[in-house]
Amino acid sequence: MNHFDYRGGILCAEDVPLPEIARAVGTPFYCYSTATLERHYRVFEAAMPPGTLVAYAVKANGNLSVIKTLAKLGAGADIVSVGELQRVMAGGVPPSKIVFSGVGKKRAEIAAALDAGIFQFNVESEPELDVINEIALAKGQRAAVALRINPDVDARTHAKISTGKAENKFGIGWSRAQAAYAYAAKLPGLDVAGVAVHIGSQITELEPFRQTFSKVADLVRILRAAGHKISRVDLGGGLGVPYKTGMAPPDPSSYGELVRAAVDGLDVQLTVEPGRLITANAGVLIAEVIYVKQGDEKAFVILDAGMNDLIRPAMYEAWHDIVPVRQPAQGVQRRVYDVVGPVCESADLFARDRELPALSAGDLVAILSTGAYGAVQASGYNARPLAPEILVRGRQFAVTRPRESVEETIARERWPEWLA
Ligand SMILES: *Cc1c(COP(=O)(O)O)cnc(C)c1O
Repeated sequence: MNHFDYRGGILCAEDVPLPEIARAVGTPFYCYSTATLERHYRVFEAAMPPGTLVAYAVKANGNLSVIKTLAKLGAGADIVSVGELQRVMAGGVPPSKIVFSGVGKKRAEIAAALDAGIFQFNVESEPELDVINEIALAKGQRAAVALRINPDVDARTHAKISTGKAENKFGIGWSRAQAAYAYAAKLPGLDVAGVAVHIGSQITELEPFRQTFSKVADLVRILRAAGHKISRVDLGGGLGVPYKTGMAPPDPSSYGELVRAAVDGLDVQLTVEPGRLITANAGVLIAEVIYVKQGDEKAFVILDAGMNDLIRPAMYEAWHDIVPVRQPAQGVQRRVYDVVGPVCESADLFARDRELPALSAGDLVAILSTGAYGAVQASGYNARPLAPEILVRGRQFAVTRPRESVEETIARERWPEWLA
């Protein structure tokens, strides 16, 4: 469910026609819908047991206005760097709702999170336990930690976004879990409060979650029997979203039933960390067709957005629906195109052999479901400035991040003395 629809033949974000934004800011640009963000957050939260901390995984979309929109609804945040800590605090997320994940937390990052007073560290290794303990003791604090356990479950998603198999770098190995808790319990700077998992992203079946959650519940019982005071469980994120019409991943309510069943009777403070589910279908990337080029074998639609703006197709072989902003007339001719960007890489390809209504130079197209892992993964490759991010609310729109200018990127560099 989202709020991008044709009205009078023009694709709109809520009540704003997208060509109006294109005229104001140029192309390419990302556009997010407040109503969609709010709806996704509310539906997901309502599916969770009362009192659950919904820690939005901010790496999916770190735009400050997106963070603030969610923070106003009560969202917490799952962060993976001190940069994200600063961003979510700037966006109004209270430290008491912040969970710090990630395999490579540096000392300065841990210190900053302790100073901020975050809710919990999700610890991913034994050496990290030692470092958090040491820094907390030096500050005269006790750090609340959960151990992120790698349950060795196949999330049956793309290999690059699968995180819960024994071969993945994430979490503490299942066979080491009990020993790791015994070790952590001896460290006086730690309050070993919980068990955490996160098995991957864009998971489209419930079964991997079911297997994981039941392992977590078993572990909580085993740890309690061994004398550990486990009062928290963090079930991670990863619920998939529909990227194509006809695709139907489990809805939040059936996922919620699974979550409720998993924690039933455990009496724990529950945390979940959805990212993609909240933002993916709340964003579109709007681009203009620069050329339509007939090759020897194929026809190419060349857009002014490239893999530097949206890397998901190149990196994860991801599918994104692409639609013209001006609704095609009934019975318009359809053609098969490779939809590509201008970047000098053959991987700069948004869609291969895609059947679309005939397009011409100057047409605007929308690359759909790009609100998660889109703008956050953008780069300046080919000296292409970062695209602006627009937030719509009803009939209003705001430029939340203006287009970067090449002048700014040049001004950030310094000449070495011998070249000046
Ligand atoms: C990326 C990530 C998430 C969010 O995953 P989604 O698939 O976007 O829901 C949650 N928790 C952790 C630890 C992550 O790394």
